[in-house]
Amino acid sequence: CGIIAYLGPRQALEILLHGLQRMEYRGYDSAGIAVLSQLADAAGSGSEGAAAAASAAAPGTAHPVKVVKRAGKVARLAAAVEAAGIEGSLGIGHTRWSTHGPPNDSNSHPHCSAGCEVSVVHNGVLENYGSLKKMLQAKGYTFSSDTDTEVLAHLVFDTRKEHPALAPEEAVRKALTLVTGAFGVVFLFSDQPDLLVGARRGSPLILGVGEGEYLLASDASAIVEHTKHVVYLEEDTLVTVRRGGYSISHITETGADGKPLPHDPEVVE
Ligand code: GLU
Repeated sequence: CGIIAYLGPRQALEILLHGLQRMEYRGYDSAGIAVLSQLADAAGSGSEGAAAAASAAAPGTAHPVKVVKRAGKVARLAAAVEAAGIEGSLGIGHTRWSTHGPPNDSNSHPHCSAGCEVSVVHNGVLENYGSLKKMLQAKGYTFSSDTDTEVLAHLVFDTRKEHPALAPEEAVRKALTLVTGAFGVVFLFSDQPDLLVGARRGSPLILGVGEGEYLLASDASAIVEHTKHVVYLEEDTLVTVRRGGYSISHITETGADGKPLPHDPEVVE
């Protein structure tokens, strides 16, 4: 139902919770967040800033990703999050309007691969999740929810495992070619402290371009207090967001063939 994601120099948690509150008017039954804590931050060198922290750990290192999700109001999530001591400048959040599986804590988003290597929030309905779930279960993946969404976490994890040379955003692109149905999605990877990958088909996704920071959301109301510069992503596009910039391409064109699409932000009031 509602998606919010943040990458920048500030603490993500507060921005995510606030964004979720801003989207409450849309209606929802559950809410959740996932935040990546850079290892350098976790070790207590927080004043160096996010960029320095990001480069402090060797590439490919897994950083801790904390996921907290609850059925019920955002206020209930906020109370749970307070006890969890969550720090980090990269995160994703979601308010859920259930379509597959009852509203409860485990069906709430974000959904994760087994070790939270891949976390995802999703709006929409995946028509062929049943056959994808069977395929993934046959490969040994175990599911911890009744949702259609969870297949995306295992599918992208599996694609990266099978194709280790692929950039994470290309693994998302490849995985999404197997999916039918509607989605607005944002992925976060535990070994990528500088990356969010978003995509949309049949469900909206908006990029907010701030000063040295980026937001992704399904609804401009979650972004406008941080920046008035937004890109309304076109149907069937994928966006790769890093601390140094972003690029947008058609989902179906591979990274090598894909022409970056024009993406000058427009100013909203
Ligand atoms: N189909 C997904 C679910 O039931 C996403 C629902 C939504 O758009 O919030 O969890």
